[in-house]
Amino acid sequence: MSNALEIEALRKTYAGGAGQPPKEALKGVDLAIPQGSIFGLLGPNGAGKSTLINILAGLVIKTSGKVRIWGFDQDVNPRQSRAAIGVMPQELNLDPFFTPRGALEVQAGLYGVPKRDRRTDEILELIGLSDKADAYARTLSGGMRRRLLLGKALVHDPQILVLDEPTAGVDIELRQMLWTNVRKLNEERGMTIILTTHYLEEAQEMCDEIAIINHGELIKQDTTKNLLGLMDAKTLVIEPEGGAPESFALPEGVKMGRRRDGALVFDFSRGQASVGAILDAVKAAGITIGDVRTMEPDLEDVFVELTSGK
Ligand code: ADP
Ligand code: MG
Repeated sequence: MSNALEIEALRKTYAGGAGQPPKEALKGVDLAIPQGSIFGLLGPNGAGKSTLINILAGLVIKTSGKVRIWGFDQDVNPRQSRAAIGVMPQELNLDPFFTPRGALEVQAGLYGVPKRDRRTDEILELIGLSDKADAYARTLSGGMRRRLLLGKALVHDPQILVLDEPTAGVDIELRQMLWTNVRKLNEERGMTIILTTHYLEEAQEMCDEIAIINHGELIKQDTTKNLLGLMDAKTLVIEPEGGAPESFALPEGVKMGRRRDGALVFDFSRGQASVGAILDAVKAAGITIGDVRTMEPDLEDVFVELTSGK
């Protein structure tokens, strides 16, 4: 088995109610997530990310389809499949009367972790709540509560950790703490990480592999590297020293623009032209190059390209 998670033809239709029509949130999603990866599930609000995650967590009942977690079919081996996965949900769902230590102990109890195997202190340390271990949850800041949710997802030492929009609306410090921990869990324990986000930059920075979901459908799954490679567009910016002629000969397919500060901006496609050819043309026009840099497309471009018109 080399996949941590396998999903086949997964569908979810929420029943309508109070004058609302039923909502088809997942329209037959197939997904395979390799063991040991940091996997990003990317899509705009309402795409169906939380629905998918909550099905994995057992919080939402699927309409149809198959879910195999660490090789265990969710319907056939519910206990084993549940034990293999820890989910940090998007919504804060903490009992205000528990302390962090209490919440972690109760969660460990729910997962049947024997007292001697519990790692409560270690987890408190990891999420930076050792000094708040015995404070009531209602007295914790929003950031601390989110950290506690991460801790709760880890009590049974799952092979797969799922984070639903872990950094939506959190401050930079918490974001960094989360990413440091997530990387550590992935590298040191080989934990497979699945996270959802609508921040493209974050997915680009964190994830080895990405699936893009839109309107309940999976529209693309590939390595981050390949997804970025899909984009053929490139930009070269040259800051000339001294002046530059109004126009000059350029390789075919290259469009030149001029920024207000005098920098020359060349848009081209990798298939059609090269940086070298443009530099040659610039030098041939008698321009002295002060500074030069290229701009690569980012996931945002890929996303717009893949979802436009849908
Ligand atoms: P995402 O996490 O990508 O923002 P969600 O999975 O939360 O998307 O939602 C997908 C769609 O399903 C949205 O249109 C949302 O309004 C709808 N939806 C989510 N939860 C429910 C629910 N409990 N009842 C009815 N519709 C829901
Ligand atoms: Mg969501």
